[in-house]
Amino acid sequence: MFEEKIENIKRASLYRTMKYLQSPQCDRVRIAGRDILMLSSNSYLGLCADDRLKKAAKMAIDQYGVGSGGSRLITGSYEIHQKLEEEIAAFKNTEAALIFNTGYMANVGVISAIADESWTIFSDRLNHASIIDGCRLSGAKIVVYSHCDPSDLEEKVKAHPCGEKGLIVTDGLFSVDGDIAPLPQLVEIARRYSLLLMVDEAHATGVLGRHGGGTADYFRLADGIDISVGTFSKALASEGGFVAGRRALIDYLANTARSFIFSTALSPVTIAVSRAALDIVKTEPQRRETLLAHAAWFRSQLMEAGFTVADHPTPIISVGLGAPEPALKFSSLLMEQGIFANAIRPPTVPAGTSRLRINLMATHDRKDLERALRHIEETGQKLGVIQS
Ligand SMILES: *Cc1c(COP(=O)(O)O)cnc(C)c1O
Repeated sequence: MFEEKIENIKRASLYRTMKYLQSPQCDRVRIAGRDILMLSSNSYLGLCADDRLKKAAKMAIDQYGVGSGGSRLITGSYEIHQKLEEEIAAFKNTEAALIFNTGYMANVGVISAIADESWTIFSDRLNHASIIDGCRLSGAKIVVYSHCDPSDLEEKVKAHPCGEKGLIVTDGLFSVDGDIAPLPQLVEIARRYSLLLMVDEAHATGVLGRHGGGTADYFRLADGIDISVGTFSKALASEGGFVAGRRALIDYLANTARSFIFSTALSPVTIAVSRAALDIVKTEPQRRETLLAHAAWFRSQLMEAGFTVADHPTPIISVGLGAPEPALKFSSLLMEQGIFANAIRPPTVPAGTSRLRINLMATHDRKDLERALRHIEETGQKLGVIQS
């Protein structure tokens, strides 16, 4: 039964395998004994092997040991969990914050705690799977609006009146095309129709905005976002999710979100690493600046070479290839050249929109990126994606 299912997945070029790293996840990594240029990491600021983070982890081990020993409401809350929550609240300009074990668990827990069968959730068509799962788990009526389209959203809000039992939910920075949600317009609509607005800043935290606060910071929105979700697992090079908002909301979530309540707390070691990373985000804006400069330059080079590239001011660069086969072939030819760039295929993206996704890092070396561009261009010509 499963053999047959697997065969079908392979025939459709949708089979996925894991690649095992033998080094820290820096701009270059070691895989199967080879030195590989990493163009697929979510560690945008290049902090996975940062000495300050490693030191924070070692000090936390000495002070607290390793495991947390219990769930947050029983025995797993340590002073540093509380400190990190205060720091996140200050960073996000909210009254309070709550840490979840992962961003996935934050989305699932928050949405299912807030909404029930009597609610309506308006969800962007390209929202992350964890948002979709949270919506489904809540039992609410789910109304999907066209991607980043405020007028379609408003039409759907009008067509599905829900009093105050309505939630708009969106990714801030979408991980597939690297585009940014139109937050100012979403805030307007949420206000006009008395709906809650929830933004998932997973890819944007530490990357976008003057203070690295994410897409809300990018648009310089002082308020209007009721629920801000994020993760420590991407630019912050640690693990864990969080939600920031008003104190009453956070208290309510700590008492009702099942993925918060029924899971062992993150280790103090992980928390210490997140705190150290957040400190770097606050004090080293040059990392974001370098990252975004790399991205603008790399994008323009790809466009000049003739690739179909989504144009956004973010470090996620999506090269459209259509069917899954050329995307997969492209990725494996690059790997032969020592370049790790992932093929993104269904079900992560809709059929016919497979692509090569390149994530840049602040610590990438321009010479390495130039070499990557040469190989990407050659491979694109070989596969007939661009003309020579
Ligand atoms: C990665 C991601 C998550 C999940 O975060 P984890 O901490 O990896 O579980 C949630 N939402 C979005 C938009 C993401 O990109």
